[in-house]
Amino acid sequence: MGLVNKGLRIRIYPNLDMRQKIEQNIGNARFVWNQLRQMYNETYRMFKDHGYTRLQCNMNTFNTMLNMLKKEYSFLGLSESTSLQQVFRDLLHAFNKFFKYGAGYPRRKTKRNPKQSFRIQNNKKTNSIRVNGRYFHLPKLGDVKFRTSDEYMGLLNDSVINNVTIVKDNGLYFAVVNIETIHTPIQSVNEGAVGIDLGLKNLATLSTGLKIVNLNFTKEEERINFYQRQMSRRKEGSRGFKEAQCKYWKWVNRKKNRKTDSYHRFTHYLITHFSTICMETLNIKGMFQNNKWSPKLQRNGLYHIVEQLRYKCDWNDCDFVQVDRFYPSSQLCHECGYQHHDLGIGVGVWFCPECGCRHDRDVNASLNIRDEGLRLLKEQKTNKK
Ligand SMILES: [Zn+2]
Repeated sequence: MGLVNKGLRIRIYPNLDMRQKIEQNIGNARFVWNQLRQMYNETYRMFKDHGYTRLQCNMNTFNTMLNMLKKEYSFLGLSESTSLQQVFRDLLHAFNKFFKYGAGYPRRKTKRNPKQSFRIQNNKKTNSIRVNGRYFHLPKLGDVKFRTSDEYMGLLNDSVINNVTIVKDNGLYFAVVNIETIHTPIQSVNEGAVGIDLGLKNLATLSTGLKIVNLNFTKEEERINFYQRQMSRRKEGSRGFKEAQCKYWKWVNRKKNRKTDSYHRFTHYLITHFSTICMETLNIKGMFQNNKWSPKLQRNGLYHIVEQLRYKCDWNDCDFVQVDRFYPSSQLCHECGYQHHDLGIGVGVWFCPECGCRHDRDVNASLNIRDEGLRLLKEQKTNKK
C-alpha cells in the first residue's frame, strides 16, 4: 500500500481569544453555507419555472456568489479565506451527492447542532499550517496548544498536511488533521477467512464462535438524562445552567468515546487476525423502520463498523466481501445445506430436521456468510482474469 490519506483527531486547547475567533469562523462558515444554499434554491426554482429540471452548479458559480456575499457582508473578511472556499466545495459535493447518488438534499446548518466545524486548507508552498513542538500554527488563529499520543506526533512530523478541520464538539475543541502518509501494513496472525453476523442481541458473532457483546451504556444514559433535565429547569446562560451543561457534555463525550473505542478495537482485532473478512450488506433504512429494534440499533452504529472495515482492509491488504442481505444465511444448515424456511426470528438454538445437527443460530449464520463470501471472492477473481 502506498500513499494514503488519514484523518487524525487531536484535542486542542485554544485560549479565550482563539475561542472567540473559532466561534467567528464557525459562524461565518455556517452563514455562507446557508446563504449559498438559499441562492442556489432560488435560481433552481426560476429554472424550474422555465422547464429546466436540473441546474448544473460548478466552482465558478459558487465562487462568484461568494464574492458577492463578501462585498455585502464585511464580517466575512474576518474569516480565514480558505475556510469559506471550503464551504462551497463541501456544498458542491453535497449537491452532487444529491443529484448523482440520491443522497438527501443539503440541509440548512443550525446553531443548535452540538457539533460545529470549519476547515482550512494548507498552502503547501508557504506551509501555512505547521507543527511547532506542542503547538499548531494556524493562519489567523496563531499557535494553538494540542496534546496527542507519540504515534500521532510521529505521523504529524513525518507527513504532509492537506487540511485541518477545527471541530467544536459538545464543549471540546478538536483539530482533525488530514495528512498524506505512507502506510505500512500491520503484521497479522493469519487465520484465514472469517464470517461475521451482525446482530441485535450481540454486536457481532464470528464464525470462529466468538461472540462480541454490546456495551452497556445504562449509567451514561442515566446521567445524560439527569443533566438534561437539570438544564431544562435552569435559565439558559446562568451559572447553574453552565455547570449542568459541563457535566452533560462530559457524559455525552464519555459515551461516545467508549463506543468509538470499542468499534476500533473490534475492527483492529479482525484485520490483525484474518486475511478475508465476510459480512452481510446492511439494510439500515429497513432496520430502522422496525420500531422494536431501532433503539438498540442506534446504539450499535453498525454503519461505522462497516466503514472502518472497508478502509482498514484496503490499507492492510485484506479482502473484504459483503454478501447480499437476501442470502438466507440464518436459515441454511451449515452441515447439509437444508433450508429451514420457517425459522422464527427469536430462535437462538435449532436442530436441523435433515441431519439432526444442533445449531447456534448466529454461529451457523456466520459460517454460511463466510462460505458464501469466499465463493463470491473466487468468482470476482476469476472474472478479473
Ligand atoms: Zn443439516
